[in-house]
Amino acid sequence: MSFSVENIVIIGTGSAGLTAAVYTGRANLSPLLLEGTLPGGQLTTTSEVENFPGFPEGIDGFQLMDNLRKQAAKFGARFEQARVESVDFSAGPLRLRTGEREILARTVVIATGAAPRLMGVPGEKEYFGGKGVTTCATCDGAFYRNMDVVVVGGGDSACEEAMFLTRFASKVTLIHRRDTLRASKIMAERTLAHPKIQPAWNSVLTEVLGTPEGGVSGVKVKHAKTGAESVIPCKGVFMAIGHVPNTQPFAQAVDVDENGYFRPVDGSQVKTNVPGVFVAGDCADHVYRQAITAAGMGCQAAIEAERWLAEHGA
Ligand code: NAP
Repeated sequence: MSFSVENIVIIGTGSAGLTAAVYTGRANLSPLLLEGTLPGGQLTTTSEVENFPGFPEGIDGFQLMDNLRKQAAKFGARFEQARVESVDFSAGPLRLRTGEREILARTVVIATGAAPRLMGVPGEKEYFGGKGVTTCATCDGAFYRNMDVVVVGGGDSACEEAMFLTRFASKVTLIHRRDTLRASKIMAERTLAHPKIQPAWNSVLTEVLGTPEGGVSGVKVKHAKTGAESVIPCKGVFMAIGHVPNTQPFAQAVDVDENGYFRPVDGSQVKTNVPGVFVAGDCADHVYRQAITAAGMGCQAAIEAERWLAEHGA
């Protein structure tokens, strides 16, 4: 029986995966892209992207990803809707098992991104999406015009979300479990100086309150030091407590750090401990997490994969 072995399989179609596809497509390697549940990645949940170089007027996030996808397809990239469930990288060729089939590959670029972290408190799941709980102010902020909202978290994301929401909301309460923000100084100062933003320090969200008909009506918080409970009335709850890398199906086969992010080797950002397996984007980067840095890593991973194939007789 003969098996066809792909030159390169790219897992994920955010800006990291698609950029890797443009490069490896242009190198005539006919990359196969596996796209999971969020084709185009996190940028497709953003409205305007103002900081991607080359677009002085900004560009819609979905449009940017669609452009990149067309560019990859133009150079011969192939797309398959599939979620990798497990892998076997113990010997060549590399083996990827999706729900449908087993795929064999000489090289793999994992660009699976990261997902927003949730708190796991009562009411959070129930009201998630259109009913009041969300992880994306740029996507959903405009629904909360002249309403009170809360943002949970104390990092740059929380500050960014809170600042963005001041465009619409009447009041933004920033709920943070400590009494100092983790965010960069400039961001923290700007956030706390905004007249519409009010911090709720040492406050831990314990429940999202509401009704099935009316959606969210408030949140219950507990003071981290005194244990006192109180309710903050609001219509929207924006979770901004970090991200979880989408590395679970690979974590047994490829080195990850204590937070689950891929741990690159050899002073490279994209080489892993497994020969022929490269990583790119937010699944391997908890520091920058930008579309442009993910694209840059996709480019690096593609070039490393091309070199690896050249050295190992593609
Ligand atoms: P982050 O820096 O990890 O901050 C997460 C925040 O959520 C922290 O304040 C943390 O509290 C809080 N938190 C985490 N788990 C929690 C829980 N279970 N309950 C309550 N609070 C919880 O994440 P991020 O803000 O998403 O930023 C990630 C990285 O991207 C950072 O390096 C950041 O600088 C960068 N970033 C940059 C920009 C920008 O430059 N424009 C924008 C966004 C993000 P503690 O502080 O107590 O740990």
